[in-house]
This record gives sequence, C-alpha cells and structure tokens, in this order.
Amino acid sequence: MTCQYMAAFGSSLLRNSITLGALSPFSPLKRPNSIRLFQSSFLFPVRQCARRAMSRVRATHDEEAAARASATEVDSGAPTIFDKIISKEIPSTIVYEDEKVLAFRDINPQAPVHVLVIPKLRDGLTELGKAEPCHEDILGHLLHASKIVAEKEGIVDGFRVVINSGASACQSVYHLHLHVLGGRQMKWPPG
Ligand code: 5GP
Repeated sequence: MTCQYMAAFGSSLLRNSITLGALSPFSPLKRPNSIRLFQSSFLFPVRQCARRAMSRVRATHDEEAAARASATEVDSGAPTIFDKIISKEIPSTIVYEDEKVLAFRDINPQAPVHVLVIPKLRDGLTELGKAEPCHEDILGHLLHASKIVAEKEGIVDGFRVVINSGASACQSVYHLHLHVLGGRQMKWPPG
C-alpha cells in the first residue's frame, strides 16, 4: 500500500474511529486493551504516513510559492544566483565546463546525480519559453553538454534531463538551466 493510500485509509479510519468512539460502548475510558493495542500498533504507522503526506503537500506548496515569487523577477535583467556561480563569487562543485556552458552539482539534489547545466551567457534565455531561432546553437550545445555530464557521472545508460520553464513549471532561477538527473530509477509521470 503506498503512503498516499495508507494516509487516505488512515485518515478515514481515524475519522471513523473518532465517530465510532463517541457512539460505541468502547468509549476511550471503556476501551479494552486489545483495541488499544490494535490502535497503537496499526494506527501509529498510518498516522505517521498521513503526517508525512501532509508535510509533502506543504513542501510542494512552498516550492510553488517560491516559484511564483521568483516569477515576478522574470526578465528584470537582474543577475541571478547563477551569475555569481559563473563568476565563482559563489562556490559550486563544477562537473564540466567549456567556453559556452558550466555544469555544477545542484545544492538540493533530487537524485544521487543532480547536475545543472547552464549557458555562461544568458543572452535573454531567462527561460526556455523565451528561446528564439538565434539560440539554436546554444540549446544544442547545452543538450550535448548534458550527455557529456551523464557520461562523466556514469549514468549515460539512463538519465533524465529536465527544464522547468515558467512559474507553473516551478522554475525558481531565471537563467536557463538543464537538470541532469540519474543514479536511481526515475518514475513517470513526473509531478
Ligand atoms: P528550477 O527550480 O529553477 O528549475 O531549478 C533551480 C535549481 O537551482 C534548484 O534545483 C536549486 O536547488 C538550484 N540552486 C539554487 N540556488 C543554488 C545555489 O546557490 N547553488 C547550487 N549549486 N544550486 C542552486
């Protein structure tokens, strides 16, 4: 049973047990030990699951709120955190670099391998949705660099490249970047 199912099942059980508790002869004071044992051994993991599912929902909302906040700065032309990474003002773990792109480990990895590949020159590419024909070369270069990164990281047999474009895709940094993810079994569809 997945966590979500357990959580749904658990919350319905909890609801029912509260209702039943009020109506049944097994009110909290009269509840026999066997029932109490069942509740603590069975409902405890269910409650934990429900709590975990709730915190995942909260984290998703935080991520969406952060993305919406960043979206207000789209096309402001303001430097992003990635400019500071390119200029080495902010340290990062560089995996690959050439004259056009920089690839470095994500600070908050979502898989054993999680590398960001970015153009050194943003050139209006705050997001993929702003791409123009003049960007074809750099877009191809970024994809090829992602494959080089996958090779270097030993995941070339199976990896995923993700580009979040815009607030509804939860983009949070407005400097085009490709996420290269791997080192574990990926799931589909993505969230
Ligand atoms: P987005 O949500 O815009 O697609 O992805 C932005 C990514 O940049 C996130 O995965 C986030 O963890 C990563 N990130 C944000 N700030 C930093 C930083 O200062 N250093 C590194 N290495 N990654 C960062």
